[in-house]
Amino acid sequence: MIDSSNGNNLQRKEAQGLFADINKKWEEWYKATYWADDPTTPLVKPPLDPTPEGLEKEIWVKASLLVDGITFDESALEGICDVYREQSRWLFDWNIGEHRYYLPEELLLPMDSIVQVRENRDSRWLCTVEDGIMLIKRDGKFVIECRHIPRPKYYSQEASPDIIMRRIAPKRGQDCLVLNYATFCMYWANNNGCDFCNIVPNISWTKDDLQVSKRSYEQILKTTKAAFDEGCLKHILLTGGYLNQYKNKSGEIVDREDEMILSVIRAMQEALQRDDIPVNVIRTAPEDKDLKSIEEHKKKGAFSVAYNLEIWDPILFDKYCPGKAKVQGRDHWLRALEVATEVYGPGRVSTHFVTGFIEPEASLLEGVEWMSEHGIGSIPLIWSPVEGTRYSNFRAPKAEWFVDTIKKIVDIRLKHGVDAFDPAALPNDCHLCGMPSLVAEELRLRKVQREFEAKKKMKAAA
Ligand code: SF4
Repeated sequence: MIDSSNGNNLQRKEAQGLFADINKKWEEWYKATYWADDPTTPLVKPPLDPTPEGLEKEIWVKASLLVDGITFDESALEGICDVYREQSRWLFDWNIGEHRYYLPEELLLPMDSIVQVRENRDSRWLCTVEDGIMLIKRDGKFVIECRHIPRPKYYSQEASPDIIMRRIAPKRGQDCLVLNYATFCMYWANNNGCDFCNIVPNISWTKDDLQVSKRSYEQILKTTKAAFDEGCLKHILLTGGYLNQYKNKSGEIVDREDEMILSVIRAMQEALQRDDIPVNVIRTAPEDKDLKSIEEHKKKGAFSVAYNLEIWDPILFDKYCPGKAKVQGRDHWLRALEVATEVYGPGRVSTHFVTGFIEPEASLLEGVEWMSEHGIGSIPLIWSPVEGTRYSNFRAPKAEWFVDTIKKIVDIRLKHGVDAFDPAALPNDCHLCGMPSLVAEELRLRKVQREFEAKKKMKAAA
């Protein structure tokens, strides 16, 4: 059992204190935007209050849309790139099959669950607008209403001549700025990329809308400042592929990933005029044997980190994540996660698992148990058989498998006291962030269930 004596729910208090001004500004932006009733954005509407039944339905819809994909008719694409936010494929291309037009990045369900759009023109799910209301249908029958996310104003501003800010750092979900510090992954240089990933093949077909691969310090600074000045963001996620170490002129080994990440963090610190910024860094496990770099990284401004193991089973890990297995190795990866938890404290370290791909449920749950015992947040991503991988014509398990598995994962997290982290520590635990995982929604559902139960008890006692 982890020591969760530090603050209210794994350092939430500390994060909320540090970033109180940023959070307040976002809350004001959120209210002003969703309750504006602006006739130019008729599909931007406020959410409904969450209920246990409503959230359970939204979890099932989200799982289904991530597994089956969704198709759009023209009515649901009107206003994209103009008043509603477009997809900008900031890391991978998650769509199923090719597409040649702009899609929304995500869809908002009535109680604010967010679904990443994975277009699949063969899907039984359709998004359409009828009588001014955006709907999701399955096999032609109404299932649920949905809404668009407004396009931030900073998207169209210039970070430098001819480069709009969306291509430097777009927004994910309702409140997260994302920046892909490395659009290439060097495991691929030796044909050792993870088998489920399309980071390198997707570069060729997403070059017009993907983030630009080389950004200047100035572009990052200007974009971060404009985005946070607008108030439409609360926190930041930095992510990218693996970058190898190199020897500099003095013969020192330099961690290229750290070098890039820290230069982005410096630009962002300057933009926000503070040392503590709400930034979560997803990177590969640092390679230095004694892992001292983790402490350095924290000192220089990373607020929280994730080293994604992807697969728990050692044999499957070696086979399907050959780059990670050969360069760092599974034991070193786990040790890096442990050291990071000692350095950052539980509540600021996490790892992703790719679920529904190859790993049996029992082994996945064993991994979640180990992570939870160490105070590490497990994020189970819903696998998509994406283009550019050898699995592009495969299918993920049914939505019901993911709905059932996420309950078991959240039971384990809660058993060890690993409830939702603060978004600055783990954006993917936040239901506003829209990651292709059900964990944020299930943790939110449990919270709402507890609140409903408490209210019932109070009523009965009155
Ligand atoms: S580490 Fe694996 S999942 Fe991440 S970008 Fe590289 S190949 Fe893809």
